[in-house]
Amino acid sequence: MIEEILKNELDQEQFDAVTKSEGKTLVIAGPGSGKTRVITYKIAYLISKGIKPSEIMLVTFTKAAAKEMLQRAKQVSKSKLEGLLGGTFHHICNLFLRKYGTVIGIKNNFTILDTEDSKDVMENARAQIIPKSEKKRMPTAKQLLAINSYMNNTLCSIREAISKFNPAFLEHEHIIEQILIKYQQEKSLQNSLDYDDLLINTLHILSTNKAIRLKESSRFKWILVDEFQDTNIVQFQIANLLSEVHGNLMVVGDDAQSIYSFRGARFENVLEFQKEAKVFKIQTNYRSSQEIVNLINELLPKKAIPKVLRATRKTGTKPFLVQVFDHYDEADFVANEILNYHNQGISLNDIAVLYRAHAHSLELQLELSKHGIPFKIFSGLRFTETAHVKDSLAFLKVTVNPSEKISWTRLLKLLSGIGKIKANRIAESIVKSQNPFKELENIKEKSEEFKTVRKIILESLEFENPGKRLEKFYLEFYRSYLERSYDDYRERQEDLERLIEMAGFYQNTENFLTDILISESYEISQVNEFETDKEKEKVTLTTVHQAKGLEWKVVFILSINPGDFPHIMSLRENNLDEEERLFYVAITRAKDYLYLIYSVGGSSRIFYGNDYIMRRGKNFIDDIPFHLVEHLEYGVGK
Ligand code: ATP
Ligand code: MG
Repeated sequence: MIEEILKNELDQEQFDAVTKSEGKTLVIAGPGSGKTRVITYKIAYLISKGIKPSEIMLVTFTKAAAKEMLQRAKQVSKSKLEGLLGGTFHHICNLFLRKYGTVIGIKNNFTILDTEDSKDVMENARAQIIPKSEKKRMPTAKQLLAINSYMNNTLCSIREAISKFNPAFLEHEHIIEQILIKYQQEKSLQNSLDYDDLLINTLHILSTNKAIRLKESSRFKWILVDEFQDTNIVQFQIANLLSEVHGNLMVVGDDAQSIYSFRGARFENVLEFQKEAKVFKIQTNYRSSQEIVNLINELLPKKAIPKVLRATRKTGTKPFLVQVFDHYDEADFVANEILNYHNQGISLNDIAVLYRAHAHSLELQLELSKHGIPFKIFSGLRFTETAHVKDSLAFLKVTVNPSEKISWTRLLKLLSGIGKIKANRIAESIVKSQNPFKELENIKEKSEEFKTVRKIILESLEFENPGKRLEKFYLEFYRSYLERSYDDYRERQEDLERLIEMAGFYQNTENFLTDILISESYEISQVNEFETDKEKEKVTLTTVHQAKGLEWKVVFILSINPGDFPHIMSLRENNLDEEERLFYVAITRAKDYLYLIYSVGGSSRIFYGNDYIMRRGKNFIDDIPFHLVEHLEYGVGK
């Protein structure tokens, strides 16, 4: 019966990939050819063959992707899929470390540092190691984090990481190494891990502890990985080790869409895996109209494995190449087109605007607001990165992990009468103590607010439910703090009320924190209830990076001008391969209507002094065969 469904909903190549794959399997195929679909149906197929959901692990690039795939797989398999482990590598590693971290000394109530927190810790480590007089010449905390992260994600030596980043820093190699060691120590003192640590430590345990490796890899009969071209070496090794016993590792990807090399992604993984795996190819594109596929075939990145996609969809409209005068005209044009589509009955949910960098969307954001067109932003400041949400999470964090200094300091600094230095001192004494809460109770401090918040913390420990804890903090302190600290306190209060509501669905504070800090993960056992509100219609605004794997009826690509897209940095470094792949990812998101927009006049966003690059740099527009597109002009320059 399942075979019947598969026959109906898959083509022959896809059907073979689902039913004939075993052992190491690579599905390599172009955009929109149903790679994600193959993995989704593979889950249903495995269930029909008697594999239990708990014996399957699905790795995706975002939480949203896992959710969508599992929903579809549920329908097809008519199974609840309870126990299936699905989500990003970070999510999966987090769960793993909660269970096994203790074997390498990681306590299972560790907290996760986000990028901002990590920067604070690095800042601290840096200050301790570098003599004051030398500070200016040394890499900044942000640069050190980048070096550290590159090293962790590629498993290269510190020397290599520094040279890759900036060879001028090589003369400080020794000091950099000391800072990184300090950074590591600071984190372990605080019982906290950064995002890279989740991966690195998992790999460490799996490769050194045979008993655990055997136990976990016996558990998973099948491991399925989507967007394989963007995995890094650490992730690849984890997947390999976890599939050691059964050997069933199925990965799908497209080398031409590898766009995360700055995070250590290597599409060489694809080439290597290809040698030992059974390879399936799919060559039909189901996503885009004939006209869009024609353009896609022309713009295949130069270094990609050659492939020509066959279109299946009926002919539609040629992609539009739009010349505008400046960025204001661009915004105006896009807003008007969106309104037109909306009036024709196309849902705003089917429309997306893509750009190379978040800043390119600012004019458009204003324009959309002016017209009252609702939109959501994938990129840019996230909810959890805003100060008020971070303050509240710091409060929750100290309730579960009172040894985390960063959160204590953040929290204490909010209190009137307590400055940076004092906050630091108090935090220090709490985290150093054997019994941090007892220490907190005993601290002698005049500040009234300190006393209030101390009481809130200690009393809130009674509640397991994070919603209750947070509500107490909010009502008894933070709400009024917001009122006196911010002009826009109302919006911030609304955000927090929403956060409290979300937290209320969890039984346990630790789980809530983990979910919110690794927001890109998703686990089937917790179909998040707070997502029941059906989302209102909204246009999507996103960077190309975050648009990976997704599709919309109408897609606009903004600012295809040298310096904007391709990005100024890659022009300077003459590193255009990845920009080509990014451009390829961008155009392949569109189903029916694609707009490529560039401007000819007006002021550029790029700083002075880059004129030459702007005029002479690589221009993607030059690669577009004119007969494949429909030309439009808009704005003052007409
Ligand atoms: P990307 O490289 O962008 O991740 P992909 O190869 O994963 O793309 P999918 O997202 O799985 O492609 O499929 C693209 C679109 O084509 C989806 O809307 C999917 O439902 C549709 N599709 C895939 N295969 C078929 C098929 N056999 N019949 C009908 N529609 C299909
Ligand atoms: Mg896909």
